[in-house]
Amino acid sequence: MKFTPETYRIPDIPMQPFVDEGEIRAFLDNTPSSPERVRRVIDKSLAKNRLSLEETAVLINATGDESEGLIMEGARALKTEVYGNRIVLFAPLYVGNKCANNCAYCGFRASNREQVRKTLSHDELVKEVEALEECGQKRLIMVFGEHAEYGPEFIAEAVRTAYTVKKGRGEIRRVNINAAPLDLEGFRLVKEAGIGTYQVFQETYHRGAYAIYHPQGKKADYDARLTALDRALEAGLDDVGIGALIGLYDWRFEVMGLVRHASHLEACYNVGPHTISFPRIKDASMLRMGGHYFASDGEFARLVAVLRLAVPYTGLILTAREPAELRNELIRYGVSQIDGGTKIELGSYVSEQRNINLNRSQFRINDDRSLNEVVDELLLQGMLPSFCTACYRLGRTGEHFMEFSVPGFIKRYCTPNAILTLAEYLVDYAPARTAERGWKVIAENLDGMSEHLRNEMQEKIGRIRQGERDLYR
Ligand code: SAM
Ligand code: SF4
Repeated sequence: MKFTPETYRIPDIPMQPFVDEGEIRAFLDNTPSSPERVRRVIDKSLAKNRLSLEETAVLINATGDESEGLIMEGARALKTEVYGNRIVLFAPLYVGNKCANNCAYCGFRASNREQVRKTLSHDELVKEVEALEECGQKRLIMVFGEHAEYGPEFIAEAVRTAYTVKKGRGEIRRVNINAAPLDLEGFRLVKEAGIGTYQVFQETYHRGAYAIYHPQGKKADYDARLTALDRALEAGLDDVGIGALIGLYDWRFEVMGLVRHASHLEACYNVGPHTISFPRIKDASMLRMGGHYFASDGEFARLVAVLRLAVPYTGLILTAREPAELRNELIRYGVSQIDGGTKIELGSYVSEQRNINLNRSQFRINDDRSLNEVVDELLLQGMLPSFCTACYRLGRTGEHFMEFSVPGFIKRYCTPNAILTLAEYLVDYAPARTAERGWKVIAENLDGMSEHLRNEMQEKIGRIRQGERDLYR
């Protein structure tokens, strides 16, 4: 072949994103499932390996009682093995609901004239954080609409403010962010403010559906959204969260998209997402959406179990969008983080009232229990509520965190730190009945430890009772 300048002309082929719709569809359509195949796939997860897209499709396509039972039981076993009985608690803090985008499902969308727009002032933010600390919260996720006012400097300042607020023995030790994607410089700026996880949800991995629900504004660009966390990781953040809004498109497709996204991040940056969120669409102010793709409770439980098995070491978040009974159940199949004492109406933590005004909220929540009610119920189920923030503050995140994500890590660090943060909560905030339950659960967990660790823990708990705070290993 003779090479001419023509030979070197690069053809104009559209860029292929790392989520390939055709590939996902082909796996979903052409992967048969049987109890034997399901068993083999689950064995791989129980050995704590990530699943491929094809293996994930085996679980998604499973039908019949036997396969379904295997999946739910497998997820339950894996959850216990990797996470123990620990469940991490946090609270959302909405800082501003102005938004230039028009996401069809969201109460904050620009075209919704009924939404009462508000941005917390510095003083209001301080008061909100104080109210959260007075309940015992230690971990926040700050949420923002996408608006020119909420640039990286604004977000960073809100984070810095939250860390400076100290009410009584309270303090916020970790602030995660759920906000619009930033550019490289923006991500660097918020990282410097000491954020934990930066969450950006793709909402739907299906390009066609995405176009329908995101008609205008910056968020209309599917590819920019999909690559947002690549930019975050390139900017030096090593702790990111992905998510899909369940109900915009077929939940099976979204699970495949999430798994694909997770493996992309791991392949390129050696660090998978720290968390995956999978909120279901809830009622919102002036919401006019059809329910064709809404997932039933049964489908939702399968979704949680499949994700648990597909990405054994990624945290799964289930928020107060879902009712308490369902949350209590799904915790057993793989959820590792939940919010408690949630109020999403802007500026409402300072008031006694529970969420009622949809025109001041992004959507309707269905679990408005107080933080203590949530802690109390978890304890009753023998779970270990945790406010731990040790890994992030010791730099055990990102690639480094992945190294630690091996058997033994949870026993050595997570369970002890969960106990220490629960002990603080019991001493500082819990009413007598909760405290009694809590110390009982702590005693049960100490019983299962080596003598050496148990002695260390008892010594540290003694120091907490004496007034020392923020002890961790
Ligand atoms: N404005 C930022 C953005 O769009 O990335 C922050 C996200 S928003 C404040 C948090 C998430 O809530 C969204 O990414 C979406 O998944 C979810 N959400 C929006 N409307 C919802 C609804 N009606 N029901 C349940 N979740 C909803
Ligand atoms: Fe704005 Fe985010 Fe709501 Fe979309 S989801 S309208 S970007 S706040």
